[in-house]
Amino acid sequence: MTTRILKKKKLPKQGMLDNVMRQFDHAADIIDLNPNIRKILEVTNNELVVHFPARMDDGAVEVFTGYRVQHNNSLGPYKGGLRYHPTVDIDAARALAMWMTWKTALAGLPYGGAKGGIQLDPTKYSNSELERITRRFTYALGDNIGPELDIPAPDVNTNAQTMAWILDTYMSTKSPAERSTNLHVVTGKPVGAGGSEGRDRATGYGVFLTIKFWAENKKVDLKDKKFIVQGFGNVGYWAAHFLEKEGAVLTAVQDAYGSIANANGISVETLFEYSVANKGSILGFSGSHTIDNADFFGLDCDIIIPAALGNQITAENAQRIRAYLIAEGANGPTDVEAEEILLKKGIDIIPDILCNSGGVIGSYFEWLQNRNGEIWTLEEVMQKLEKKLRESFIRVSETSENRKVDMRTAAFIIAIGRLEETYVQRGIFP
Ligand code: NAD
Repeated sequence: MTTRILKKKKLPKQGMLDNVMRQFDHAADIIDLNPNIRKILEVTNNELVVHFPARMDDGAVEVFTGYRVQHNNSLGPYKGGLRYHPTVDIDAARALAMWMTWKTALAGLPYGGAKGGIQLDPTKYSNSELERITRRFTYALGDNIGPELDIPAPDVNTNAQTMAWILDTYMSTKSPAERSTNLHVVTGKPVGAGGSEGRDRATGYGVFLTIKFWAENKKVDLKDKKFIVQGFGNVGYWAAHFLEKEGAVLTAVQDAYGSIANANGISVETLFEYSVANKGSILGFSGSHTIDNADFFGLDCDIIIPAALGNQITAENAQRIRAYLIAEGANGPTDVEAEEILLKKGIDIIPDILCNSGGVIGSYFEWLQNRNGEIWTLEEVMQKLEKKLRESFIRVSETSENRKVDMRTAAFIIAIGRLEETYVQRGIFP
């Protein structure tokens, strides 16, 4: 048997905090946000950095650094994913936590925003090492997370299995009476461990739905439209799956290892099977040829779905983009300079806090089911998700039209407005 040696792409610079702050400032200026509330929202409530040991398979002990940043909880418990990646640091966690606050507020959920993770490259660890690392991280987080306090979920390089380990570890530290009532300490769990039907596909389905709503508005038929996807993990795969079902054609994919293309179309399911068998990488897929990473965003296509990391579409590559729609599956994939270029070129951007909000909406449904002892069918989940996302999409489109601003600014205006309202009504103690 030959083993493929997977060489990783150079890691991108993140700089996401600068982006989210500039996006926030822009919308806050437009609505003339109350200056006292602005002061509150431009900082995070709590920031936890933990160093914890875990035993490796060879018996050695390694010490890891984990983060949990809780930005704001004025609308409800903190909510947001956990990412395992070398670029995870305090600034990345701050930026991603802020985006979560705007996302949950925009979706009208009773949540605030948080984010965290561990700075590591998971491909360097075995499954059992990742289990021990996750359990020690959960133990280190202790009671800083909780079903009514701060509820993590999957993000880059974490999945349903990671959530099951967190749940089990969290439960093990509780008294017998509390153990059966804390299932909703994490969402995105496997269905057998208290997860919800449909949570696995909720983010990608939501990305697809927002593209569908956009196409309905613009009277564009998605059939035969060419789309390319950066990141073929949970979000990228499911978004591609639903778009292909609608008749659109996947023509290129990029992941952490490189880029592939086929102008005649790439079968989403065959590529998915291949990537699962190929340690999560798309490279070497027989129905395609390899292309240079630098050429990816400039490919001839109609729709681009960035579904990997932040700051991928920059001033450097934005000029070459030929698509007319960017649907942000990832958080913060387009930096502020790139966005200015794209908007000038007349390219529409469905912003992350709307486009990928199907994930947190799906998480909310899981949390509600756990809390109320209910089990919903896949059909129910998908219908409720579509209804909620459609409402958000309409609100953003109307605000964008009424205020003559782009969709991101409109989404921020709605989210920040909701937070402003709650602070004004509640007042500030003392
Ligand atoms: P994932 O770990 O399942 O998949 C990530 C994919 O991105 C993989 O295919 C990986 O190879 C690729 N990738 C990593 N680094 C890359 C690079 N430098 N260049 C190109 N590709 C790269 O992660 P996911 O859960 O699909 O998350 C993807 C994005 O979507 C993230 O920005 C995340 O914050 C966002 N998001 C995820 C969810 C969710 O429910 N999982 C919800 C909302 C937003």
